[in-house]
Amino acid sequence: MTFTTRFAPSPTGPLHLGHAYSAMLAHDMAMSEGGTFLLRIEDIDQSRARPEWEAQIYEDLHWLGLSWPEPVMRQSERLPSYQAALDQLAALGLTYPCRCNRADIEAAAGAPQEGVPQFGPDGRIYPGTCRSRQPSEATGQDVIRLNMQKAVRAADLRSFTETGPAFPGTHALDADTLISSVGDIILVRRNMGSSYHMSVVADDADQGITHAVRGADLFEATQIHVLLQCLLDLPTPIYHHHHLIRDDSGKRLAKRDDARAIAKYRAEGATPQDIREMVGLPPSPR
Ligand code: GLU
Repeated sequence: MTFTTRFAPSPTGPLHLGHAYSAMLAHDMAMSEGGTFLLRIEDIDQSRARPEWEAQIYEDLHWLGLSWPEPVMRQSERLPSYQAALDQLAALGLTYPCRCNRADIEAAAGAPQEGVPQFGPDGRIYPGTCRSRQPSEATGQDVIRLNMQKAVRAADLRSFTETGPAFPGTHALDADTLISSVGDIILVRRNMGSSYHMSVVADDADQGITHAVRGADLFEATQIHVLLQCLLDLPTPIYHHHHLIRDDSGKRLAKRDDARAIAKYRAEGATPQDIREMVGLPPSPR
């Protein structure tokens, strides 16, 4: 199978040094394996995505010396694929509509108990208030959740291979951890037709991704993605979670760190090789 990887930015702000590192690392890995580097625009959250940020992404990545096959996959054009995945999970009896807002969830969760995790990779662990509701009861105001207890029973739980520096090795999905430390994740967010987890799983499969290269902040979410792959009968890529680029005080860069935006370095006369050096990548292999 040809090594195929991707860079999957959300067009909700400027690309900064951390994005440049992620994109160049994935591109370098693909080139050194004689493989393919794909770009995917994660614009499922249309309330935050902006065409000008998307245009800036293409410009910055080209300037960094990266290229990719066209057309680029855009999540906003893929709602039917996400719906098909949801239908598959619903047919297995694993989904339910949830009307709780943040305050409802906090109130139902009650006081923190020692040793019981409150937050997982999908945010606050859902206390289960709406779990007995049926898919047919869904209204436009609901989110759709995965019933984790049923999901781990329905799935033939797999292991995944991680090649990144922080968590190298084989990681087996664990039913108890998924139930207690992840919980009933959101498959469809309000007004979005999907969620990050559902989209990334459908997209990686449809793009034929063999190696998912991304930041270490997404390592904990990987168990969700592999579980969905088990349930949807999709292949599991090899994962490579790279270290995060941090600012001088050790804080990881965020979208609002405009000071580290690639466009700003460009405007100040930096070259792509300068950027490679700043993030600790060797000079361009080409
Ligand atoms: N869109 C995600 C981000 O910008 C990346 C998702 C992924 O690589 O799986 O952080």
